[in-house]
Amino acid sequence: MNVFVLNCGSSSVKFQIINTDLDMFETDSDRRVAKGLIERVGKDDAIVNLEAEGQEPIKSIEPIHDHREAILRIKKWMEDPNTKIEGIHSWDDIHAIGHRVVHGGEKFTKSVKIDKEVLAQIEECADLAPLHNPANLKGIYACYEIFGDKIPQVAVFDTAFHSTMPEEAYLYAIPMEFYEKYRIRRYGFHGTSHRYVAYRYRKLVGKPREEVNVITLHLGNGCSACAIKNGQSINTTMGMTPLEGLIMGTRSGDIDPAIVEYLYNKGLGSVTDIFNILNKKSGMLGVSGLSNDMRDIEKAAAEGNHRAQLALKMFALRVKKYIGAYMAEMNGTDAIIFTAGIGENSVLIRKMICEGLENLGIELDDELNKQAVRGKCMKISKETSKVAIYVIPTNEELLLARDTVRVVKDAPRMW
Ligand code: ADP
Repeated sequence: MNVFVLNCGSSSVKFQIINTDLDMFETDSDRRVAKGLIERVGKDDAIVNLEAEGQEPIKSIEPIHDHREAILRIKKWMEDPNTKIEGIHSWDDIHAIGHRVVHGGEKFTKSVKIDKEVLAQIEECADLAPLHNPANLKGIYACYEIFGDKIPQVAVFDTAFHSTMPEEAYLYAIPMEFYEKYRIRRYGFHGTSHRYVAYRYRKLVGKPREEVNVITLHLGNGCSACAIKNGQSINTTMGMTPLEGLIMGTRSGDIDPAIVEYLYNKGLGSVTDIFNILNKKSGMLGVSGLSNDMRDIEKAAAEGNHRAQLALKMFALRVKKYIGAYMAEMNGTDAIIFTAGIGENSVLIRKMICEGLENLGIELDDELNKQAVRGKCMKISKETSKVAIYVIPTNEELLLARDTVRVVKDAPRMW
């Protein structure tokens, strides 16, 4: 099957076309045949990037006024005789569409085929993720408008993997009626990534799902850790929103909530303004005063910049704290898995996180750590390490495509 995987942001449309099917999962023979990104959707100078496998990418600046126009632009490109995408000549060669949807609330515990009822339920969840779900919905509506019911559409939720968390992990210690009335609770995010790397680990070590006990660390622009016990997410660092937990590029992660009132009383603007600071001006950017990009911070730290060095130490300390917490919660772990931009690329961050955890049975092999390169699965712990340490590249789009196939064909879930 050719699956069109779509990830819509408020002003961006990111897509991949993946050729995959049930019998290809075991052999990993699924292939991405095209990908692209349209940014600045809604403007006269949107940036269009389109790339068929093995061909020169196309880059252009064009007026693209909404998500529908963006998808029609991709369609036009696909159907252009000059575009050579393996196995695809027109939209008729697309068999299903898989949408990334950030928030599935308590309703969605797995990927589902989209129909009117599902759409209404995703709309309801928008209240919980006002920055994300409305954009995801725009993509779904645009596809409906263009293709009608002809092509099945599937929603894959970032929150779904964490639906197995027990009450004591997902509830906040605030009056219970807030949960009952407003569904205030930990939902967790990056579920597709945590689930994907845990699946890759299971394949690598040849274990059944029920025997997977690992801590996964998704360290990218957004960062979260997940405790996976007996193959299920039992806790994760992001909460009701993606602001909680680890320190991120521009997000603070955990802070004392009383700080918000304090800043408000100091005249720093409305509560919304203050949350804007916590979401967009904090984290590595706020501490270093330089950048949200780990590469810039590592460079500045190496040149002796104190605030950059401090930001790195704070980042690593917060991750260590959760490794300890989750090891306590799980009564130990078989492995720690690093993934995403920082997790897959930063030799230094992996070293800083693992340093001083030897008494917990976590021993990093410095040489193997240096050899780990993006795109490859690699074990980077010492032979003597009780806890294995892995770098496993994430591939959320592939999981989206595979889930889409499974849902359309009514096949059992991989995880
Ligand atoms: P997203 O979370 O948006 O999917 P990524 O997983 O691609 O993003 O992570 C992006 C981040 O990865 C960047 O902000 C950058 O800090 C970090 N990164 C990428 N390459 C490196 C590198 N070589 N060293 C350190 N950090 C890196």
